Amino acid sequence: MRIDLHAHSTRSDGTRTPAELVADARRAHLDAVAITDHDTTSGWLEATAAAHEHGITLVSGVEISCERDGRSVHLLGYLVDPSNTPLATELAKARESRVTRLERMVARLAADGIPVTYAAVLAKVPPGATPGRPHIADALVAAGAVATRDEAFARWLHDQSPYYVHHYAPDPVRAVGLVQAAGGVAVLAHPFTQTRGAGVLTDRALGELADAGLRGLEADHPDHDAPARARAHALAARLGLLVTGSSDYHGAGKTTRLGDNLTDPAALAAIEAQATGAAIVRPERR
Ligand code: AMP
Ligand code: FE
Ligand code: FE
Ligand code: ZN
Repeated sequence: MRIDLHAHSTRSDGTRTPAELVADARRAHLDAVAITDHDTTSGWLEATAAAHEHGITLVSGVEISCERDGRSVHLLGYLVDPSNTPLATELAKARESRVTRLERMVARLAADGIPVTYAAVLAKVPPGATPGRPHIADALVAAGAVATRDEAFARWLHDQSPYYVHHYAPDPVRAVGLVQAAGGVAVLAHPFTQTRGAGVLTDRALGELADAGLRGLEADHPDHDAPARARAHALAARLGLLVTGSSDYHGAGKTTRLGDNLTDPAALAAIEAQATGAAIVRPERR
């Protein structure tokens, strides 16, 4: 069984529509794929239809942008009830704050002579998408200022950049509670990612999250080198948490490919057993 539990579509900063993402998963010979867009569940319906069409198992989820001590932490919420009001309200609040944040980042960049306008960035945000820095990057690529998203992040869009502006994001303990209350299963995404600052979360903070109801750690992720993976596996064993693996596929937005890291079927079975918010989509295999 090939299971990839973290992927993005055009409903956030991926470059493939939800239906294309599912088709890609089929082409990558996956048995199951998760759609986990940033701060939205709006891609679920389209992905569900595509899962039936392509005969692939779909795990619906969301990647919630959280913040702790001014730094970014991502929480995956699998199989939440998308109509749960407290969760949906929180996600809507984050998305709204992302719009004004985008405008402020563009103003700072433009004030320094970097060739970007708010209109050009909005043109890069697909309908219904959670807007993010990758869309600014896409506008910069279109303007010829940089060659790739990666270069835009390295030069101007990274977290320590003077152009960086925060958006509203809940504390991860609060987000774990929201996922749980919505019947979902909370898994901490790429806990030791270097790009967002090594050790954003201390072991103590991770213990606090486990006490709050966190169920798993995404140990096998493209951002994790071998020591980070080993540390995540050891920590999960110590805290009694599941481990997951994923590609964090973004289509052409990142270099990772679907299936680059996989999740053990037993971990997916445990997620399914714990979830009460939404069901896994399991079509007849073709
Ligand atoms: P935001 O949520 O708007 O703050 O943007 C963060 C998102 O940008 C992350 O979820 C990544 O998907 C993406 N990202 C971060 N670094 C890079 C990079 N170097 N190249 C492409 N995308 C990136
Ligand atoms: Fe992303
Ligand atoms: Fe992430
Ligand atoms: Zn992601």
